Amino acid sequence: MSIDLQFDTQHLWHPYTSMTEPLPCYGVVSADKCLLTLENGKQLIDGMSSWWACLFGYNVEELNTAAKQQLDKMSHVMFGGLTHQPAVDLAKKLVSITPVGLEKVFLSDSGSVSVEVALKMALQYWHALDKPKSQFLTIRNGYHGDTFGAMSVTDPEGSMHELYHNFLPRQLFAPQPKTPFDQPWDTHDLDMLSQLVKDNHANIAAIILEPIVQGAGGMHFYHSNYLQGVRTLCDQYDLLLIADEIATGFGRTGKLFACEHANISPDIICIGKAITGGYMSLAATLTTNHIAETISRGKAGVFMHGPTFMGNPLACAVANANIEKLLSFDWQGAVVKIESDLKGYLAPCAELAQVKSVRVLGAIGVVQLHEPVDVATVQKKFVEHGVWIRPFGKLIYIMPPYIISRTQLQHLCAAIFTVVNES
Ligand code: PMP
Repeated sequence: MSIDLQFDTQHLWHPYTSMTEPLPCYGVVSADKCLLTLENGKQLIDGMSSWWACLFGYNVEELNTAAKQQLDKMSHVMFGGLTHQPAVDLAKKLVSITPVGLEKVFLSDSGSVSVEVALKMALQYWHALDKPKSQFLTIRNGYHGDTFGAMSVTDPEGSMHELYHNFLPRQLFAPQPKTPFDQPWDTHDLDMLSQLVKDNHANIAAIILEPIVQGAGGMHFYHSNYLQGVRTLCDQYDLLLIADEIATGFGRTGKLFACEHANISPDIICIGKAITGGYMSLAATLTTNHIAETISRGKAGVFMHGPTFMGNPLACAVANANIEKLLSFDWQGAVVKIESDLKGYLAPCAELAQVKSVRVLGAIGVVQLHEPVDVATVQKKFVEHGVWIRPFGKLIYIMPPYIISRTQLQHLCAAIFTVVNES
């Protein structure tokens, strides 16, 4: 039976699309390693890892086994008053692999929810200390998710969240960090943020940012000294630092967590996406003993959040298998190889008149154009070239599974060159 694409078009909302003029969707019937198979039999090399998630591509033996074995035991059980080995094992792993000092784990269903949890932790922390604070400070061009708290700290102007501006809490925004990751550090880069901290620290609960790589807000790679400087300011002014590592976590930037580029630990970290290797939705927010204990000794006495699917055993079991696989695999070697190949294979794009800049960090390659692309047209061309790449705005970017072969990567980059050249 074929996929009823007509029904899909008429009834199913896809991410960020219209119900009256939806972007075309391609029916996919299976996926294996780095290949997606479309209904018509065409195979596409995956450049997206399903939005940063599928570290090892698709149909991964160890993850399949973990899911099947857990399914036979229990796929879900409430986390209120009950616990289970997959959650305990996952918490142990997360505490041991995340930056030092993050000891208490809150499991939730998605990246956006883990950000809400982080914001609530920060607010409850100050409330517990009887110093209530009501604002967050962040940097321009950030992206933290689609729920309201997360949207409030996502760049409010010129972004897809502009619509809700009047409803969202007003947060403080410093300019986007200017110094690129691999350029000489400009000490003035932190000036505006420092000033905002000086002027407003009494009411700032936390600084929240995506460490090193700003994803959906522009695929910008900024200098590690900036992140170090933010940590120092937080220490100086007694502010919490929330690192949103939902996209950057699990090795994507060349370090297991991007905070490691600056040798810092945040007070709260959000992780998601690649945690289950792209198998199912799961996220986690980790914090320090001090914050967790302060919250717990406060007037509320508890942390006020508890989703129905918290600690879902099936997702935890797959996450455990995924993290074990990651740690037993030379992921660092794989990412270094992808990084150097991306630099080589994408270099010709920099010569094209349509291209403003080409940048690569870890297993992320970005080609920024001068003009926004027409997604439907460009997508179609990519599919014709046998690759799965989903551009947005002026950005064509890839973050392939770590197991991608050199030939497949070359094919992805060659397709980008050809499609941009023809546009
Ligand atoms: N933060 C960052 C940095 C992200 O990239 C995303 C997802 N694009 C989110 C938060 C939201 O995660 P989710 O889509 O799982 O809610």
